[in-house]
Amino acid sequence: MRNDRTEKAESANEPKTESPASASRAAEPARSGVSRRAFLGSCARTVGAATAAGLMGLSRGSGGRLGAAPATERPRDANDEPRGSEGGNADRREHEARWYSRGENGDVRCELCPRDCVIRVSERGACRVRENRGGTLYSLVYGRPAMIQADPVERAPFFHVEPGSRMLAVATAGCPLQCSFCEVWDIALVDPEEIHSYDALPEAVVEQAEDIGASAVSYAFGEPIAFSEYVLDTARIARKRGLLNLLHTSGYFAEQPLGEILEYIDAVNIDLKAFDDKLYRQYVGGNLEPVLRTMRAVRALGIHLEITNLVIPTVNDDPAVVRAMCRWIRDELGADVPVHFARFYPLYKLANLPPTPVTTLDTARTIALEEGLEHVYVARVTGHEGENTFCPACGSTVIKRLGFVIEEMNITDGACAACGRRIRGLWG
Ligand code: SF4
Repeated sequence: MRNDRTEKAESANEPKTESPASASRAAEPARSGVSRRAFLGSCARTVGAATAAGLMGLSRGSGGRLGAAPATERPRDANDEPRGSEGGNADRREHEARWYSRGENGDVRCELCPRDCVIRVSERGACRVRENRGGTLYSLVYGRPAMIQADPVERAPFFHVEPGSRMLAVATAGCPLQCSFCEVWDIALVDPEEIHSYDALPEAVVEQAEDIGASAVSYAFGEPIAFSEYVLDTARIARKRGLLNLLHTSGYFAEQPLGEILEYIDAVNIDLKAFDDKLYRQYVGGNLEPVLRTMRAVRALGIHLEITNLVIPTVNDDPAVVRAMCRWIRDELGADVPVHFARFYPLYKLANLPPTPVTTLDTARTIALEEGLEHVYVARVTGHEGENTFCPACGSTVIKRLGFVIEEMNITDGACAACGRRIRGLWG
């Protein structure tokens, strides 16, 4: 599958800069044979990607447009009082959480995700970024992205959303889950004080998206659940300004916040990590049903949905389980939901496993096609046939890709240019 053309595309896709989180970890010894840096270099090469800080001439503490500053200059102080109102706090580390209730003795119950944490005064929830201060729950990451970065929309991955367009992606520290194979552990699985972050209130994020000519703001690469209030306020503004809002998430939401957030979201990519509740409990630290519920809700609301399944050797690559998953997607969500089978690279707690053999990904794709799924992709194998979009009716190549590069577009008004079959997606 690999050739000169592939190598050239990969070289062109080399990221220009790193997220603050990655930079802060750069000096760490690798935990495995493949460090996070090497992993990102090999599987997440980006077309013309540069951090927004780079694009804007910012660096941490530069006093630039977003007022970026290293976390170490603004240590968390448990006695600090919150200031400001929703969407405009002067101290962005202390934004009152939106989804919680108060209990006895100052306890609060966070109602954002199914973990349902009961949090005592001066303690934090399992996601590390929600803290009870005197009986009030605060988000510690509102307006404090650890990563803000321009990317092609294909990187999210969204293959049926304005192909070839640019998005501005934001992510903060924190995650309610604990995946053994977390690919962004140095953002998602750390305390907010452990990583550098930028100051970027929702208005500033949207302005930067506009300034770089992005068509969308993407909440991705960390876990957007952890910064739901920030997502909600940013998405409201982005929608008013005519930008799309893209959410890439584990889907581990409670129902109420999910409904409120989806009101402003145009497309969702869900990481379906395994189609097995036992594996979810063992490797993810959650359970499967809330994720399935989220996918049903997205479809029921008519929001564009894509699914990513990271295929991990010996963990979730059982063909029988892959088949059951594909049947469920077809029957519950629809055969036209795009599914991305992504290649695993050894890292974090599963550094002992090998990268997913391409033959395993081929098998998963074959099973999905046999079960009637119409758009089945193979991710992180540059040059693979499974990067392309084919018309389910006539078999023509509708979109030809090489990595994140769009080489050919044969789609007219959302339909196959050869036969006129409509292809589900947001085509601009
Ligand atoms: S969002 Fe965080 S604090 Fe809230 S229930 Fe989930 S893990 Fe707990």
